[in-house]
Amino acid sequence: MLPHFLDSVVELITRTSTDLPPDVRAAMGMAVGAEQPETRAGQALTIIAQNIDQAASCEGPICQDTGMPTFEIKVPVGANQIWLRGQIRAAVAEATRRGKLRPNSVDSITGENSGDNLGPGTPIIHFEQWEAAEIEIKLILKGGGCENTNAQYALPTELDHLGRADRTLEGVRKCILHAVWKAQGKGCSPGAVGVCVGGDRTSGYLHAKEQLFRTLDDTNPDPRLAEIESAVMNEANKLSVGPMGFSGNTSLIGCKIGALNRLPASFFVSVAYDCWAFRRLGITVDATSGRITAWLYREGTKPSQPMLSPQAVAAGFPSTGREVRLRAPITEEQIRSLKVGDVVLISGPMYTGRDQVHAYLMKNDPPVDLRGSVLYHCGPVVVKDAQGTWNVTAAGPTTSIREEPYQAEILKRYGVRAVVGKGGMGAKTLAGLRESGGVYLNAIGGAAQFYARCIDRVTGVSLMQFGTPEAMWHLEVHDFPAIVTMDSHGNSLHKEVEEESGAILETLRR
Ligand code: SF4
Repeated sequence: MLPHFLDSVVELITRTSTDLPPDVRAAMGMAVGAEQPETRAGQALTIIAQNIDQAASCEGPICQDTGMPTFEIKVPVGANQIWLRGQIRAAVAEATRRGKLRPNSVDSITGENSGDNLGPGTPIIHFEQWEAAEIEIKLILKGGGCENTNAQYALPTELDHLGRADRTLEGVRKCILHAVWKAQGKGCSPGAVGVCVGGDRTSGYLHAKEQLFRTLDDTNPDPRLAEIESAVMNEANKLSVGPMGFSGNTSLIGCKIGALNRLPASFFVSVAYDCWAFRRLGITVDATSGRITAWLYREGTKPSQPMLSPQAVAAGFPSTGREVRLRAPITEEQIRSLKVGDVVLISGPMYTGRDQVHAYLMKNDPPVDLRGSVLYHCGPVVVKDAQGTWNVTAAGPTTSIREEPYQAEILKRYGVRAVVGKGGMGAKTLAGLRESGGVYLNAIGGAAQFYARCIDRVTGVSLMQFGTPEAMWHLEVHDFPAIVTMDSHGNSLHKEVEEESGAILETLRR
């Protein structure tokens, strides 16, 4: 068998999770250059750029949601796919043990986390035979926030702001623009879309995801699709959804379209949305030794070109001097003085809580006193060191809208004053913030390394039965930056940007 194969796959996973490829870096570099540094969008992109550099230099996950590992593999005729699959699964478990992947595989019936990213359907591994003598392995790590913003349209259909989408390429253009608008900041914009025109519901989504294996700067060999890709790039960036949905000049960094034949009765347009943390790499491997012979999407093992100067990375949060400092526990008066657009720097205790914690708190008292507290929608990567101390190695926000059914009730019952997450929340939470005197703070999605550096220590953990990402971690933080995007006076930046970008979308009807 191939003695070095397992190590090669562990190296591929590690690089993919920690170091963005040059084409994504170049696109994000252009996004940074398109915003004024002191604007909300500019500050968000500076944090993202710092995070990209920090992740590469410490070999830590770029985002705490290391996503669904999806392998596309080409093997020479005669390769033993059963053995290769077993080795890839072992490599995934090893990368998880090393903290390069977060344990992300959850039993859909019991909610139990397998702890090693192995389980029915995880990881995803697709094999294909080819005539070459080497093995090619491509990997994409696509997280849940952007996966949840995928969309599939059955044409003809009626779209908000864009009217009818017919079974034409013009209809396809409208669907893609609609998907980007609908995603707002929930998928950690600026993102990229892989699109499939046609196929059936299953093959359509698969082919759409496969488009994400193309580089962002390539040109579609089909001139009809190339034209739509370029039109979408141009028009989507007029929408002003902007980084993290804060409004701004870059909403999309890539649009890649493929097509499959369809049944006469069906016309699907499937859109796979990927976030700025677009983690995709590949290797070719010698089919006898298992050693890496070449890297795909990057120049060998050469260090990546940094996004920022070392001084800019070391400088940390790009302060304007207008930030509001908050120390938990926070009073109602402090919260009521905040308004949408304020940037806050939080210090003191902070508790994580995501899906399982919210469901738990609806039926049980909290394990800690939450009065005046800051509740962070986050499923961190946490590892125990040799002394038995927990250390957070990646800790960006998760998508908050999933907690919409619970949040207002939890604010009211337990006196939580600030909820930190990403992508914003809905009308029920907005009303709850007003009633209970709370505020929603948008942290920068995916900035897992940046935020891990704002955490001084882990002071405890509750509800560990839900697994590492879902447990309630007790953290001590300093100068943790976030933007007030929903205040206690009924204002929501998310609602504002959605309406304004919807009005722009209307002008793109043609
Ligand atoms: S950057 Fe955002 S959408 Fe992407 S994996 Fe991380 S949290 Fe999810």
